[in-house]
Amino acid sequence: MKNRLVYMDHAATSPLREEALEAMLPYLKEHFGNPSSLHTPGREARKAVNEAREKVARALNAEPEEIYFTSGGTESNNIALWGTVKKSPGRGHIITSAIEHHAVLDVCKDIEKSGYRVTFLPVDRYGLVSVEDVAAAIAPDTVLISIMMANNEVGTIQPIQEIGALARERGIVFHTDAVQAVGQIPVDVKKLKVDLLSLSAHKFNGPKGVGALYVRRGSALTPIFRGGGQERKLRPGTENVAGIVGMARALELAVEELPEKTRLLQEMRDRLIRELTAMEAVTLNGHPTRRLPGNVNVSFHYIEGESLLLSLDLQGVAASSGSACTSGSLDPSHVLLAMGLDHQTAHGSLRLSLGRGNSHEDVDYLLSVLPPIVKRLREMSPAYHRHQ
Ligand SMILES: *Cc1c(COP(=O)(O)O)cnc(C)c1O
Repeated sequence: MKNRLVYMDHAATSPLREEALEAMLPYLKEHFGNPSSLHTPGREARKAVNEAREKVARALNAEPEEIYFTSGGTESNNIALWGTVKKSPGRGHIITSAIEHHAVLDVCKDIEKSGYRVTFLPVDRYGLVSVEDVAAAIAPDTVLISIMMANNEVGTIQPIQEIGALARERGIVFHTDAVQAVGQIPVDVKKLKVDLLSLSAHKFNGPKGVGALYVRRGSALTPIFRGGGQERKLRPGTENVAGIVGMARALELAVEELPEKTRLLQEMRDRLIRELTAMEAVTLNGHPTRRLPGNVNVSFHYIEGESLLLSLDLQGVAASSGSACTSGSLDPSHVLLAMGLDHQTAHGSLRLSLGRGNSHEDVDYLLSVLPPIVKRLREMSPAYHRHQ
């Protein structure tokens, strides 16, 4: 039991799967050509990029020409948001939520500084955005709505289809950061009525540093980077050919395996939630049912998620927390605070994000090592003793 690694941090990143690596290797070795070159090696690389584009499109029910390859979720979000805003220069209004990933939240704050008005919608105690709130926030000059599909910390799944229908009806561009959703739950861009959707390969067992932006046909964006003509000028720069090929392979397999994987993840998730919330002073964060199949987020009252995390690491368990120092800032997670948690409860949060490769044995192991750690930390906690 000692040297094992129980990896329960798939929302941060997931291991590259073997099939994706195998698909990538030829493009890191013999097929090293630049897709823009006209010679044979170049054409081989171009063909690989085109095939990958078809695979990614198929996985999302999109058309190949609606897929733009990027360096990941952060870049896709920046291109989507700034690319929309730059199209309507001067002033306007955008709507987003208070629980977005920083790759949307901080971009919106910059856009606000540039002269736009931004509405940061609140969420309920489960981390859910209300469709009525979105409708009420729409102004005559609203040009963009950006609401994430699933939250990376608490796993809450938003009513994207309903918001999409509303945005379409009002003629407002709708973007969703689907980085936590793609490869984890079904994502069909037509059904969701989204105009722009961001995804990232390393969250579904693909390589790091590669992602894509879906841009619905007819919704042109103003490029934020200038350079060559790659990705129809929206994302200039020589393509990460091996990364793109690896992402397409990983996504193709993730979609194929989705029903089976979902069943197992939900089983493990629900078991963890049941067992952990049965412990003294432990509460669930996020929605009881509308949540990602692999997401568990609980608060251990009177202790620091940070300490819990480090103790778990010593036992070979990799997890995450909404506690302060993890994120490099003094305040606990903006997501948990937006859900109405007090600082103490937010500091005691622990996120276990399950994924491909996790098994019931991992859950057994976690459930055997965690309670003694919690007991020990609480024995040292003045807050716990005051409560007693
Ligand atoms: C991981 C993540 C991102 C950032 O993606 P990168 O590919 O790491 O840049 C953006 N949004 C959400 C919801 C994420 O979970």
